[in-house]
Amino acid sequence: MSKGYHSKVLIIGSGPAGYTAAIYAARAALAPILVQGLEPGGQLTITTDVENYPGFADVIQGPWLMEQMKAQAEHVGAQLKQDIIVGVDLSRTPFTCIGDSGDQYSADSIIISTGAQARWLGLPSEETFMGFGVSACATCDGFFFRGKKVAVIGGGNTAVEEALYLTNHADKVTLVHRRDSLRAEKILQQRLFANDKIELVWDHTLEEITGDDNPRSVTGARLKHAKTSANRLLKVDGVFVAIGHTPNTEIFQDQVEMDEEGYILTTTDSTATSVQGVFAAGDVQDKTYRQAVTAAGTGCMAALEAEKFIALLEAGATAAAE
Ligand code: FAD
Ligand code: NAP
Repeated sequence: MSKGYHSKVLIIGSGPAGYTAAIYAARAALAPILVQGLEPGGQLTITTDVENYPGFADVIQGPWLMEQMKAQAEHVGAQLKQDIIVGVDLSRTPFTCIGDSGDQYSADSIIISTGAQARWLGLPSEETFMGFGVSACATCDGFFFRGKKVAVIGGGNTAVEEALYLTNHADKVTLVHRRDSLRAEKILQQRLFANDKIELVWDHTLEEITGDDNPRSVTGARLKHAKTSANRLLKVDGVFVAIGHTPNTEIFQDQVEMDEEGYILTTTDSTATSVQGVFAAGDVQDKTYRQAVTAAGTGCMAALEAEKFIALLEAGATAAAE
């Protein structure tokens, strides 16, 4: 049977932004409810080494870091729900949300921290071979390419990290990028260039993934030169697509203001959205930095701003009652 919950603060999403917001809101005695979504722990649960989250001199693992954040949020009193929000109404207060479970959540304020997810190229062959040699997660699927050849598409931090990680398994990794320079951090680029298992193919886009039907498997990547349009076939057993992310904001469409890419707009130096009492933190509102530490930072800001909002709301209610 479906249930109903009311909280002063409802947090949607369980990445670094959501868990940090939960820690701060719980410590402010706001008894927050956090709905975890399909990917408890968020994007860091699909990676391995995290070297840039402050406070850890030694390399830590993404899934471990997220387990720690979850434990900390629970320890200070946040209530976690294994559910996915499928519908929201931000047009009136209290705000209401409905979960995939059928449960109803109402709240005086909401923190949206639904993050972002991997983007695909949209090629028919990408879909055909998805899970059969095409992946967007090297740490999840790299093991299946032990001793094989793989291609990674993209030129950002994710693509470079995926390529480096894949050298632990594959014999050869070809990084295919549509331009002649990478946008990845310099330190990652240095590691990439120093790795003799990695070859770079500049100025090429992926046109098609070729393969066999029985058993369904990838045999190659057809590439096109970005300037000359010349085609070439790269013989590979797997293709990892690492071309960026799309914000998870579909359920908030037409409810809060967003930019043309679907990122939620927040006011300068704040996590306030276009709806009073609704705040947004992390990758869902940040296409510039998109780091665990910045997500956590804006999660903290969102909780502090929600606390202030609730205090004003309660002061207003008390004044009206007097
Ligand atoms: P996310 O981590 O994206 O979490 C979003 C959460 O929202 C998830 O829990 C999801 O289940 C939930 N959600 C979504 N929709 C709903 C819904 N409808 N209902 C309920 N919940 C929902 N950053 C670093 O600083 N260092 C690194 O080393 C690093 N490595 C990375 C490696 C990879 C492979 C990737 C992909 C990213 C990496 N990043 C790294 C970036 C970092 O992971 C993100 O910046 C960070 O996770 C963003 O946190 P977030 O809380 O905004 O969202
Ligand atoms: P990103 O920085 O947006 O890079 C996406 C890459 O894919 C770009 O090089 C882009 O090319 C390319 N691309 C986009 N669309 C394409 C298309 N249709 N065809 C071919 N190539 C395409 O995304 P990301 O690498 O996933 O990183 C996302 C965020 O997470 C970043 O802020 C990053 O810093 C962070 N992150 C951090 C770490 C870390 O700190 N260690 C690790 C992973 C991710 P162009 O360059 O030409 O635009």
